[in-house]
Amino acid sequence: MAKTAVITGGASGIGKQTAIRLAQMAENIVIVDMNIDNAGELIEQLRQSGNNPKAVSLDVTDFDAVKQTANEIKKEFGSIDILVNCAGIRKDGLLAMMKEEAFDRVIAVNLKGTFNMIRHCAPIMMKQKSGSIINISSVAGTMGNAGQTNYSASKAGVIGITKSVARELVSRGVRCNAVAPGFVGTEMTAEFADNRDVLDTIPMKRMAEPSEVAELIAFLASDSSSYITGQVINIDGGMDI
Ligand code: NAP
Repeated sequence: MAKTAVITGGASGIGKQTAIRLAQMAENIVIVDMNIDNAGELIEQLRQSGNNPKAVSLDVTDFDAVKQTANEIKKEFGSIDILVNCAGIRKDGLLAMMKEEAFDRVIAVNLKGTFNMIRHCAPIMMKQKSGSIINISSVAGTMGNAGQTNYSASKAGVIGITKSVARELVSRGVRCNAVAPGFVGTEMTAEFADNRDVLDTIPMKRMAEPSEVAELIAFLASDSSSYITGQVINIDGGMDI
C-alpha cells in the first residue's frame, strides 16, 4: 500500500526539506502548516517527482482541528505511516523581561502542538500496528539556553513526550524518536546567518543545512532504524558534546 507522511511546519525550513526527502520514501506527502500560501511551488515539485502531495492549513495548537485533519488524512489516503512534528516558533527574551504571552504561545505551538498531532495520529498508527513519529527538539532542550526559557522548556518537554510515547506505543509497532538540532540555516535563524560570534559558538563553525537535518529525519522514519525508539539524536555540529 502507498505510504503517507505528514509533516507539520512543512511549508518552510527543515519541514520543507524533510517533505522533499521523504518523497523518496512515501507516495503521499501531506504538508501541514499555519500558512500554506507559499507551499504552491513545493506541491508542484512533489507532483513533478511523481508523488501525491496535499497542503493543509492548520494551527497545530487547535486540538479539535488537529483531530479533524488526522481523520481526513486517514480517510483520503488510508494510513499515516510517518509523522514529523516540525512546526515551531521562538519568542526569545531574558527571563526577567519575558511576557506571559511569549511563554504560553511557545509552549502551545512547540509542545502542545506536538502532543495534539501525536494524540490524533497515533491511534491510526496503533491500528495499523506500524508507524514512525519524529519530533523536533533542540539543543536548547538538551542544554538549556540563556534567553530561551520558554523555547528551552518546550523543547525539553518534546523529549519527555518522545520517551513516554515510545514506551507506550512500542508494543503496538509504533516508534517515536526526536532530533535535536543546533543552529540550522532557516528563516528562524536568518538574523544569525552572518554573525561570526554566534557561528564561533559551534565547534564546526557553521550552521547545518536543513537538508542535513532532513536526512537524519528520513533515517529515523525508515526501516533502517527499525530497532531505534525513544532516542534523542543531536545534530548540532558538536555543540552538545
Ligand atoms: P521555520 O522555517 O520558521 O519553520 C517553522 C514552520 O512552522 C513555519 O512554516 C511556520 O509557519 C510553522 N508554524 C508555526 N506555528 C505554527 C502553528 N501553530 N501551526 C502550524 N504550523 C506552524 O523554522 P525551522 O527552522 O524550519 O524550524 C523547524 C523546527 O525545527 C521548529 O520546531 C524549530 O523549533 C526546530 N529547530 C530549529 C532550529 C534552527 O536553528 N532553525 C534549531 C533547532 C530546532 P509560519 O511561517 O506561517 O509561522
